[in-house]
Order: sequence, then C-alpha cells, then structure tokens
Amino acid sequence: MPDASNNLLIPDNIYMFHPTRGDIMSNKLDFIVEELERLKAEHLFINIRIMESPADGWMVVDGKKVLNFCTNNYLGLANHPRLKEAAKRAVDEWGVGPAAVRTIAGTTRLHLELEKRLAAFKGVEDALFVQSGFNANQAAIPPLVGKGDVIFSDRLNHASIIDGARLSRAKIIVYEHCDPEDLEAKIQEHLPQYRRGLVVTDGVFSMDGDIAPLDKIYEVAAKYDVMTMVDDAHGEGVLGRGGRGIVDHFGLHGKFDVEIGTLSKAFGVVGGVIAGKKLIVDYIRQKARPFLFSSATTPADTAACLAAVDILEESEELVERLWENARYLKAGMDALGFDTGHSQTPILPIMLGDAGLAKEFSRKLFENGVFAMGIGFPTVPRGMARIRVMNTAAHTRDDLDFGLEAFARVGRELGVIK
Ligand SMILES: *Cc1c(COP(=O)(O)O)cnc(C)c1O
Repeated sequence: MPDASNNLLIPDNIYMFHPTRGDIMSNKLDFIVEELERLKAEHLFINIRIMESPADGWMVVDGKKVLNFCTNNYLGLANHPRLKEAAKRAVDEWGVGPAAVRTIAGTTRLHLELEKRLAAFKGVEDALFVQSGFNANQAAIPPLVGKGDVIFSDRLNHASIIDGARLSRAKIIVYEHCDPEDLEAKIQEHLPQYRRGLVVTDGVFSMDGDIAPLDKIYEVAAKYDVMTMVDDAHGEGVLGRGGRGIVDHFGLHGKFDVEIGTLSKAFGVVGGVIAGKKLIVDYIRQKARPFLFSSATTPADTAACLAAVDILEESEELVERLWENARYLKAGMDALGFDTGHSQTPILPIMLGDAGLAKEFSRKLFENGVFAMGIGFPTVPRGMARIRVMNTAAHTRDDLDFGLEAFARVGRELGVIK
C-alpha cells in the first residue's frame, strides 16, 4: 500500500546533476539541446552579430568597421537628421510611452496624422498604423477570413503572411511562386468548397528581390470575385513614383482590397500599415487583435515616420539614387559571374546553394570588410542558401566598388566564380 505522504517526496533524481550540463538530472529539455546541435551540424544556427553604430552605409559590427549590405534601410533614413529631430521633439512634447492600446487611450493626434499622410501617399482611402509589418499581417488577415474560408497564398510568401493566415484558421492553398495560371487553377479547384476567398502575395519577395505579377493576379482574383491583399514591405519607398509602392508601379490604384506595409524598411523607423478601402480599414479597426490588445507605437517612432513621409513627398532623389546603386551593383555581380537569381529590385541574392558555403562566404566577406548575411533554411528553401546583398541610397559608387572587389576575392577563393 503506497504511503500517501510519499507523494509529497521529491524523486531522488531531481537532486542529481547532469554529467555535462551540470544542471538537475531531468530530460524534459533534452529536445532543445538536440535541436540546437542539429542546427549547428546543418550550418543553420544563427550567430547574432552586434551593431555598435547606427544603421548606415558603413557600420561598426562586432568591433569592426565594415561596409553594410545587410540592413533594409533602403533610403538611408534610419539615421537621418530630420527623423532624429522629429523623434526628439515628440519625446519632449508627448513623453516616451503610449501607456495604452490604441482603442482605449493610446491614439494621439500624431497617429491620426500619420495615417492620413500614409493614405494620401499611397493613394488609398484609409490607413491604419500598427506596431510592425509583422503585426499588420496578424491584424489584417483573421478579420477577413476564418473557418470555412480559403486563402490562396504564394509559395514564397513572408513568414508573417503565413502566420497571419494560420491564425485565421481558414484553409490555406499554396499556389506556385508568381504563377497567376496556377493561382487560377487552384481557385477553380478549391473556391467552390468554401464560403469566401482571399488571395495574398508579397509585392517584392524579400529573399529573391523579384516582383509579383500584380496586374495578372488582380485579373484572376477579379474574375472569381475573391478578396486581394498585397504585402508591400519591400516595395514602399522603392517601387512606383517616388517610392509609392507596388500598386503604383502597376497602376492598380483602388484595385487591391488591402495593402500591407512596414515603416521599418525604406521609411527607416518601425511600424506597420494596413491600407486600402475605408470600409475594410474601419472594419479592421474594430476587429484586429494586435490593434486591440497591444499598446500603440511610441510618439517618437510615430513622429519620425511622419518626417520620413515628408522627405519622400518632397523629392524622388533618394529613390533614384537607390535604383542607380542597385543597377550598378547587379551589373557588377553579373559581370563577375555570380548567379543573382531573379532579382528585379535592390534586393540582390547571390545564389550559392549550400548553407555551409553561404556561411563561409559571409564569414570571409566580413574578414574583407563587408557585412553581408548568409541566409539558409527556413528563411529560404533547403539547398537554396545565398548571400543577400542590400544596397541603399546611403552607399557611394566607391562603396559599391569596394563591395564588388571583396565579392570577387572571396568568390574566387571559394571557387564560386572563375
Ligand atoms: C520585413 C517584412 C515584414 C515585417 O515587417 P516589420 O515591420 O519588420 O515587422 C512583413 N512582410 C514582409 C513581406 C516583409 O518583408
């Protein structure tokens, strides 16, 4: 007969120490050790570098000054004096924290002004400013579709779209990358079984730098009367007139139901935006959980975003410089014999295939004074590892030449080019 008081005794092995880890003998966390070891063996373990200077053309990284090809700071606004000044003034006027979610006491005049300005900049009826681009997808997708509905999603869509789609509990049907014919076939096959449908695509694909065929996607979606959403995170400030984004690039104003964006890339700050028809944005204001349950963006960030919109509306100079640099760098890499994939934008992948090679390439570039990240699974499909090169308007022609020389040296050393 077991003694009931025994149940209160802590088993002996809790007091024993693991021979190598030194902690308590218990195997409940072994799965973590095993997974981390597997990531290291497959060259997929991420070593996080430490930035010791603001984001700019050159940066101090892990104590070393290097040419920066890693940030999404397309227009060089992340360290721009006007944005910094706007943020400082906002701190003086409004303090540092919002102290509430937007729907309770966190909506300031700054937020409303930014939303109005962003809507005007993008040429849409209304816009909702949220904490990040990632949040924008979590906020926008679940109110539009749910159980019994279907989402048609490009195979290479961003993780935040995938997670937003999963959160909605709608059925997710993946169509082949940038393939409107496959999209149409998938809609014909699946839509009849569901209540309503949503097509969602990245505008510019963040790891390949190619552009979704938005005009064709719109035609297909319109034919079957499904809702449309595009995530323009890498298109805003880059594509279209003066950086007005992918919808402007294709002249599709008013056609896409929802445009998702971020203020953390070309705009140089942080934040996300859900833009489009007023009916939809009003509805998302009532329903979006990241908007209802997570605090508002700070006054400093919001004011800095407003200054970024000012700069973009005043002049196209930075966008033009970005594209000149992008064309020069791509031509240089192509001439050296690198495989730059399907890049059509300032996102320039240098395709290497093997994750170990991409890691080694990145390490050697760093030794040569260039900071460019190797990217592997799960950010890109297995066997398609690459170095992703992000040039910006903050780079000079000399900077780009310095970068090309380093790529040439490392590429030859590792046998990637002749
Ligand atoms: C970067 C990115 C996001 C996330 O934006 P954050 O503002 O950094 O959260 C969302 N979608 C796409 C397509 C992106 O490239």
